[in-house]
Amino acid sequence: MNSKLDADISRRRFLVSTSMAATVALLAPRHMFAQDEGLVQTARRTAAAATITVQQLLGKISVLMGAGGNIAVLPGRDGNVLIDGGYAGARPKITAALASISSDPIKHLINTHWHFDHTDGNEWLHSAGATILSHTNTRKHLSTATRVEGWNFTFPPSPPGGIPAEVFDDERTVQLNGMTIALKHYAPAHTDGDISVHFTSADIFHVGDTFWNGYYPFIDYSTGGSIDGMIRATGANLAKVTDSMIVIPGHGAVGDKSQLAFYHDLLVGAREKVAALKKQGKSLNEIVSAKPTAATDAKWGNGFRKPKDFIGDVFLGV
Ligand SMILES: [Zn+2]
Repeated sequence: MNSKLDADISRRRFLVSTSMAATVALLAPRHMFAQDEGLVQTARRTAAAATITVQQLLGKISVLMGAGGNIAVLPGRDGNVLIDGGYAGARPKITAALASISSDPIKHLINTHWHFDHTDGNEWLHSAGATILSHTNTRKHLSTATRVEGWNFTFPPSPPGGIPAEVFDDERTVQLNGMTIALKHYAPAHTDGDISVHFTSADIFHVGDTFWNGYYPFIDYSTGGSIDGMIRATGANLAKVTDSMIVIPGHGAVGDKSQLAFYHDLLVGAREKVAALKKQGKSLNEIVSAKPTAATDAKWGNGFRKPKDFIGDVFLGV
C-alpha cells in the first residue's frame, strides 16, 4: 500500500477517535475504549485530565466527583476523613479540591470496596498521612493478584502503603471530627467487600457501588457480586433510608430515597425480564436484541456500562 494512503487512514482514525473521546467525555467521563486499550489502563491514563467538581452537603461534608468513584470528605480537628480515594493519577486535582474545602491534613481513608476506581489513590493518600480502614475482603483483594473478568484485567497486589491497615467484618463505628460514622458490611452485592458509611448526625449515607444513580451498574461476579446480591443490598438501603436522608452513590449524582427506589425497581424489572427470556432458552445475544431494558436505556445506558453490558451482568446471575 502506498504510504500516503496509510497516513490518511491513520489520520482519519485519529480524528474519529478524538471526536469520539470528546463526545464520550461529555456524556460520561468514565467510559473507556475497551477494544483499543484495556478499560483499566485507559481509566488510569486519563485520570490526570479529569474534571473534579466539589458539592457541599450538610454538616461540613462534601463530595468530590469525577476522579473515579464519588469521594466523600469530612474535615475537622481529627484531620480530613475521606470515603474512597479515586484514581491515583487524579492526585493533583484531588489535592486541589481538598484544599478548597479545608486546610486540615489527610488523616483517615475508608474504602467502600476494593475496586481500583475507589482505591487507586490509597497509596498516595497513605503517604500523605491517611490510615486506611476497610472490610476484611477489601484488604484480601488488595493484598493479592485479583482478576476481574468483566474488565478483562488482573490487578497485581497493591503496593504495601495502599493496603488497609485496619479492617472489620460486620460493623464498625468510628468517632471523628465530632461525627459518629457507622460502617456496615453488606452481604455480597457488587463485590464481597462492600460497606455503607453513615454519617449519623448529618444523616448522610454513602452506599458505595451498591447504588449507581443514573447509570447501569457494573456487577463484579469475579469477587462475589451478583444481581441478586445487588437487589438485596438495594433493599437494605431502602429499608434504612428516610425521606430526608442524603444518599451518596458510588457513581452518579447525590440522590435520595425516591431515586434509590427507582433504581431498585429497575434492577428487579431487569432481572425478571432477563430471567424469563433465559428460561425460554434465549441466548444472551437474543436477549440483548429483545431490549428488555428499553425503557431506561436512553438515560441509564450512556455511562460506563452500556445496556448490553448490564444485561450481560444480569444474565450471568439468573
Ligand atoms: Zn466498584
